[in-house]
Amino acid sequence: MRKNIVAGNWKMNNDLSETETLIRELKLQNNPSDVEVMVAPSFTNLWQAFNTLKDHSIEVIAQNMHFADSGAYTGEVSAPMLKSLGIKTVILGHSERRAYFNETDDILAKKVDTALKNELRVIFCFGEELKDRKAENHETVVGNQIKNALFHLDASALNNIVLAYEPVWAIGTGETASPEQAQDMHAFIRKTLASKYGDDFANEVSILYGGSVKPSNAKEIFSKPDVDGGLIGGAALNAEDFFAIANAF
Ligand code: PEP
Repeated sequence: MRKNIVAGNWKMNNDLSETETLIRELKLQNNPSDVEVMVAPSFTNLWQAFNTLKDHSIEVIAQNMHFADSGAYTGEVSAPMLKSLGIKTVILGHSERRAYFNETDDILAKKVDTALKNELRVIFCFGEELKDRKAENHETVVGNQIKNALFHLDASALNNIVLAYEPVWAIGTGETASPEQAQDMHAFIRKTLASKYGDDFANEVSILYGGSVKPSNAKEIFSKPDVDGGLIGGAALNAEDFFAIANAF
């Protein structure tokens, strides 16, 4: 059975004391037993967050990492560094990394390999831009993003990947894909995986939706058969909203 997951991406928000406050508030919420709940603070707050949530079921995860294990890459953070903190999961391929930091499919394929080599689970993000959807090209774009970054992996490696479909036009815009649009794309993603790895394998992969998920729309989106949870941006910065979403299955 694939897992339901709700992951909060805090992006470049919250200093140390704001992070501590948010974690205190998160600990007061009602934690669903059948959903994996994760939060991704900024690098500077990872260690504090990890220790504060050590005995809690909320998993602390990273927002990004470099493809090299070490070296002359000023300002970057490596997979072994994350691992040494106890971090077990990293988000890769977020559309903001692709758009503002020029992360291509080739770079992301290398990052995925490095993460898996270091035994980190990956939440791999991808999604089409508005122009792709308007041109009805969204399935081709998404299919290529998946194939280019992941299809060199064998099934046992891909077992450690969670997919996150995030249409760029829905991220931070308040505009959500309709539950039907999300379901159609998630079914297409599963079909794409099945074409290489088989139906049984594709049915075990968790596929999250991301893009303006809120307490008011989470239930309907999560009710779709191929949607296994969400990657949450803005609403993850409020503990009550975030847990309303985590409890929306
Ligand atoms: C995200 O950044 O991954 C995201 C889904 O953001 P938001 O929920 O704010 O649209």
